[in-house]
Amino acid sequence: MSTDTILLDAGSGGRASQRLISQCFLRHFDNPMLAVMDDAATLDMAGPIAMSTDSYTVTPLFFPGGSIGTLAVHGTVNDVAMMGARPRYITCACIIEEGLPVDTLERVVADMAAAARTAGVQVVTGDTKVVPRGCCDKMFINTTGIGSIMARPAPSGHRACSGDAVLVSGSMGDHGLTIMGCREGLTFDSAITSDSAPLNHMVAALVEEIGDIHVLRDPTRGGLATTLNEIAQQSGVVVELEETSIPVHAGVKNGCSFLGLDPLYLANEGKLICIVPEACAARALEIMRASPYGRDAARVGTVHAAGQHGRPGQVLLKTPIGGKRLLSMLEGAQLPRIC
Ligand code: MG
Repeated sequence: MSTDTILLDAGSGGRASQRLISQCFLRHFDNPMLAVMDDAATLDMAGPIAMSTDSYTVTPLFFPGGSIGTLAVHGTVNDVAMMGARPRYITCACIIEEGLPVDTLERVVADMAAAARTAGVQVVTGDTKVVPRGCCDKMFINTTGIGSIMARPAPSGHRACSGDAVLVSGSMGDHGLTIMGCREGLTFDSAITSDSAPLNHMVAALVEEIGDIHVLRDPTRGGLATTLNEIAQQSGVVVELEETSIPVHAGVKNGCSFLGLDPLYLANEGKLICIVPEACAARALEIMRASPYGRDAARVGTVHAAGQHGRPGQVLLKTPIGGKRLLSMLEGAQLPRIC
């Protein structure tokens, strides 16, 4: 194992930079488009194209079920996929704190490369900067992804309609509670791991078979409750959820009650919300359950027109005893640097 650390001159653009780029990034991301090493990648794509960017600052860098590297690929791949698109290319820009062990960077880049291979995307351009000790915490990553939109019309938060079924691809809160547990030094009864996963293959299957998917969105920061509030507001509708039908792992439920948290507000990094016409709901669930990342997919609610059910933009939770609770948007940050 190497005991080397990243020095400031590795971000200088000179020989030390070149060494780091070829020995670490080019070696792991090995692909002909990146290997050209011009100032920009040349892409050959027909439109319409979806593009998304995100920065990753999670602490700790490694956690059960993933790392900052898996998140940096999955997060951006999933955001592009949520437009009913097939993600194809991503970028990788790293800001590294002087003194980071070379082995740590290697592990992160290897995780990114493995995640990109599984998702079927190529890292085609990137950038590396090294900042003096204390100017950032270990490392931050920015990725931008682009992909071809397959769905016509593309899914959008504005397209939820009265009568639509609200589906989720699996259990809620796994990522958020995992990070919280790492940070607090807690060990839970049952093993809780992040759900960090690429959803693009599941989305491709949904688009191909279902066709007109009204809304696709990944409930990351703010969780299911906040994401559904955004959709209800964009579409001017009411979303009604059945509390008992929302999948939450027993370990997450227990951990949440111990910490005083609500799993419906915790971040997910490998789950999607899919809103489709009622007639397509059963088939969409089958497709999701056929994916390794969608085995616990469930129908969790229904979209209603505003009026007798509630005001436009409201999300209501039907409790097991028959009551209804208003689920508002997350106020402030439940936990910073979760992704
Ligand atoms: Mg998203």
